[in-house]
Amino acid sequence: AASSWANVPQGPPVRITEAFKADTFNKKINLGVGAYRDDTGKPYVLPSVRQAEEKVISSRLNKEYAGITGVPEFTKAAAVLAYGKESSALDRLAITQSISGTGALRIGGAFLARFFPGAKKIYIPTPSWANHAAVFKDSGLEVEKYAYYNKDTIGLDFEGMLKDIKAAPNGSAFLFHACAHNPTGVDPTPEQWKEIEAAVKAKGHFAFFDMAYQGFASGDIHKDAFAVRHFVAQGHNIALSQSFAKNMGLYGERIGAFSIVCENAEEKARVDSQIKILVRPMYSNPPIHGARIAAEILNTPALYDQWLVEVKEMADRIITMRALLKDNLEKLGSKHDWSHITSQIGMFAYTGLTPEQMDKLAKEHSVYATKDGRISVAGITSENVGRLAEAIFAVKG
Ligand code: PLP
Repeated sequence: AASSWANVPQGPPVRITEAFKADTFNKKINLGVGAYRDDTGKPYVLPSVRQAEEKVISSRLNKEYAGITGVPEFTKAAAVLAYGKESSALDRLAITQSISGTGALRIGGAFLARFFPGAKKIYIPTPSWANHAAVFKDSGLEVEKYAYYNKDTIGLDFEGMLKDIKAAPNGSAFLFHACAHNPTGVDPTPEQWKEIEAAVKAKGHFAFFDMAYQGFASGDIHKDAFAVRHFVAQGHNIALSQSFAKNMGLYGERIGAFSIVCENAEEKARVDSQIKILVRPMYSNPPIHGARIAAEILNTPALYDQWLVEVKEMADRIITMRALLKDNLEKLGSKHDWSHITSQIGMFAYTGLTPEQMDKLAKEHSVYATKDGRISVAGITSENVGRLAEAIFAVKG
């Protein structure tokens, strides 16, 4: 019998680690990874996570299903972490646990596609995390772009961004990276966020924040939540995607949350009911283990304090590697201005290298990253930073 899938075309590879794996050079460097590595290049499990996990296991809890919206001890604490414990949003917040940040975006996309009163369209920055467009399209939204990155300054195209916010039809939906913009590492300053907020409000736009790096960016969970909290304080009923992949290192546990700030308790009840109706046929209810670990950390004062120290250590290591890379390039005599390496924030740095230069980095120096010039700073160590700088100097000068 003929196969049902004879017409399925071969898709392009979704990830880029293949070439890295095939390279036999023992000093090869992988700067494509979207996960934290310690200074020896190894994946890192936070000690606070180990402790929380041991506590969860020794409690010998059962494995019954969570409710559709997940483990309440987790979602309550996640909301406080994002919005702040004094936030007026907390008692009018519709929130659900999600399959990490991606799942949160997917629920949000589906909710907008079903209920957003304006055009079923979302504006995302240029560039954005590659999965944003895919997630929102699969959710049934049209995806439009707004200006964000200025490749001449390797910085924010603030004017262009404001212009596009103003040019969009009133009442449009905008996706913002709350902090540590991926892939550029370029964030608006607090002052710029205030202007962005004013422009969004003047147009009656709807703000959807993707916060995948709270605490991981600056090392300070409050600082990283500035944009989210500022918008809420200014009266925006935002949507928010949260991930605990990076800041707790819970990547494969797939733990996150999606929330919508509602006008009041009555609206919250209606929105809650519809989130449940959306989630039920997607995956019924979320996994419990990561939620229990995160809840244990967030709700146990001593563990929480320890986690704050650990997340800051990760952020600080990234910040240190940025400075070391810049120093090394300057010591080699590079005449380029590398200040963007240290002014950018989060896991990724946009080097400004061209696709051809990135190709050379891989072929001639066994340094692997994406063609857009993005490098994962998490892949840099005290040991490989010298060789990395030499490689970049060799291809770019
Ligand atoms: N949003 C952004 C901007 C990201 O960079 C990532 C991860 O790389 C995510 C969301 C979602 O990641 P996860 O689904 O692992 O939480």
